Amino acid sequence: MTVAVEFSSVSRHFGAVRAVDGVSLQIAEGAFFAMLGPSGSGKTTCLRLISGFEKPTAGVIRIFGEDVSDVPPNRRNVNTVFQDYALFPHMNVADNVAYGLMVKGVGRAERLRRAEEMLAVVKLDEYGGRKPGQLSGGQRQRVALARALVNEPRVLLLDEPLGALDLKLREAMQDELKALQQRLGITFVFVTHDQHEALSMADSLAVFNEGKIAQIGTPEEVYARPATRFVADFVGSSNVLPPDMTQRIGGPAAWSSLRPEALRLAPAEGAALAGPVTALRYLGAGTRVQISTGSTEVAAFVPAGQPLPLPGQNVGFAFDAADLHVMDRA
Ligand code: ATP
Repeated sequence: MTVAVEFSSVSRHFGAVRAVDGVSLQIAEGAFFAMLGPSGSGKTTCLRLISGFEKPTAGVIRIFGEDVSDVPPNRRNVNTVFQDYALFPHMNVADNVAYGLMVKGVGRAERLRRAEEMLAVVKLDEYGGRKPGQLSGGQRQRVALARALVNEPRVLLLDEPLGALDLKLREAMQDELKALQQRLGITFVFVTHDQHEALSMADSLAVFNEGKIAQIGTPEEVYARPATRFVADFVGSSNVLPPDMTQRIGGPAAWSSLRPEALRLAPAEGAALAGPVTALRYLGAGTRVQISTGSTEVAAFVPAGQPLPLPGQNVGFAFDAADLHVMDRA
């Protein structure tokens, strides 16, 4: 495996704020790597450290094996797509896309040819003459993508690039971005606070919490086997069970998680988890049924079409022992 980006014990502190705190990670060449975490957890600072707009307070960053401590942003072969796209409003789309090539001194005819080529890749070949203000949000997003890709970066950094789009367009762009990344084979590093987006798009992801990586792995690993309570809670909406409860339902005395979709409705008598229904939330594909077990609220996902209990009714939840995930680190 060729490593595109490597962090070795990297920190970036701003006075007392530990924006990034002792992060080590490796991103494989050609990967779609997501950095997921709540607001302020250090994701954007990590991107800026890769692009070179920010310098580490400690640690070393390597891009394709080269220590980039003394390499300025314009020599890193890395480009960024920003959430607000940062397009030049007075330039037409073709000139926006060709901008990076102009800065590099590529002649006008050649850079416009390459811009047209890249606009075709993002399916905007007819739009070169328009101004950004005459495009939809999704089209502007694609222009921003083309503008970064025309420079042929080895690593493309994307900072919440779909954040400004409505849900429908966002989902369409997720598919497009993923397909484009696979076709071009460029390493993508994608920042998002949307767990669904990270899980559905990434080959591998890092979950950030307070400047540290809480877990790193494939979407399946992180979703099914969260390392900590924070990850279980943040990635999907798992039930997090304290040690005494884990023990009561047949596990060891340790924190554990149970995915709502692993729970089935069962008669209250004899069920491992039982109690009155405290909430029913309709989610389209099913309903989230929440019960109070006394100390802890536990939710099950009941697929559409199955009979539902009434609020206040005493029900039980059953599950397969294999679905009880005991967390290594609480
Ligand atoms: P968001 O999803 O809201 O963009 P994030 O995970 O990208 O959040 P960062 O932007 O990396 O988080 O910020 C991490 C922490 O570092 C925050 O507490 C932020 O206020 C702080 N921070 C970032 N840049 C600076 C700066 N230039 N000076 C001081 N503090 C900063």
